[in-house]
Amino acid sequence: RTAQEALQRLTVDVADWPEKGVTFKDITPVLADHNAFSAIITALAAVGRDDHGTVVVDKVVGMEARGFILAAPVALALGVGFVPVRKAGKLPREAHAVSYSLEYGEATLEVHTDAITPGERVLMVDDVLATGGTAVATRRLIEACGGVATGASVLMELSFLGPRGVTGDLPVESLLTI
Ligand code: 5GP
Repeated sequence: RTAQEALQRLTVDVADWPEKGVTFKDITPVLADHNAFSAIITALAAVGRDDHGTVVVDKVVGMEARGFILAAPVALALGVGFVPVRKAGKLPREAHAVSYSLEYGEATLEVHTDAITPGERVLMVDDVLATGGTAVATRRLIEACGGVATGASVLMELSFLGPRGVTGDLPVESLLTI
């Protein structure tokens, strides 16, 4: 509730960025406000607990780059480890790679092969779910490590781009649906 209000109040719509015809949701003003930042982290982390408040995930994955800012404090709030999913060529050791198409072109994401232990339950955290391509690629990376993607927790879902048709049976929790 507070998190949703903060997102509505502080997110800035930027017309024609990064391309003409695209309206970009700029969440940096949400991060710059301590109460808002705190509220969205608490709300994102709630997805990693069951009804009794017990933590039900073993790792939190954040997708480069804004996902890092959100996933790291969520991992600390839940008392579990954080794993970065990075763009191609950034990780220094052996990594799994998955290529996919996104809202503005093509991309490859990577994760260290030993970052997730087989059988671990992994929560993905990102700022915006747009086409759903990033979430699906990240799920494939978690599965390539032998982990179980329990779901994705995002600030905002751009429903007009139809991400649910792409994410399929992956549970996705959005604080705000646009
Ligand atoms: P998707 O793969 O679902 O199409 O795009 C999601 C990814 O692109 C996320 O990692 C997200 O950070 C980024 N993204 C796409 N559109 C927006 C937007 O309007 N605002 C922000 N902040 N990120 C976006």
